[in-house]
Amino acid sequence: MAIRKIIQLGDETLRKKSFEVAEINAKTIQLLDDMKDTLKKAQGAGLAAVQVGILRRIFVVDVDEGYFEFINPKIISTEGEQYGIEGCLSVKGKWGDVKRPEEVVITALDRNGKQFTITAKGFFAKAVCHEYDHLDGIVYVDKADNLRSED
Ligand code: ZN
Repeated sequence: MAIRKIIQLGDETLRKKSFEVAEINAKTIQLLDDMKDTLKKAQGAGLAAVQVGILRRIFVVDVDEGYFEFINPKIISTEGEQYGIEGCLSVKGKWGDVKRPEEVVITALDRNGKQFTITAKGFFAKAVCHEYDHLDGIVYVDKADNLRSED
C-alpha cells in the first residue's frame, strides 16, 4: 500500500495532456493500486494519474455503482445535462458549479487489458467527465460558476 502525493492547482503538470498507455505492465498495476489507496485515503470520488504526477491516460472512480479503473478511456456519447457542485482533490477547499452531461457512455481498458464499455449516469457521469477532463489538462475550475471556498 502506498499513498502518493496529490499535486495542487498551480503545478503546471496538471495542465499537461496525458499520453495513452502503450502497454499495461507491472508499473501500471502498481500505479493503479497506489491510486486506489490514495483516493480512499483522500475520501474522494475520483483521481486521475496526472494528479499524482503521472502523465498517463488513466483514472479511477469510486462511486455508489462501485470502484472502476479506466485506462485509455474514450467517451463514446453523452446525453442530457446536469448542473451542480463539484470539488477536486487538486483544488483543496474550493467548490464550484459545473454543467455536465447527465449520462455518458465510455469505453476503456481494465487492468487486464480487456476492453469494457459502461454507461454512467448522474453523479457517476459527473465523476467520469471530471476525471476525463484531467487527461487533457482541464481542471473543473475552468468551467465552474460560483467558485467558492469551503466555508
Ligand atoms: Zn479533479
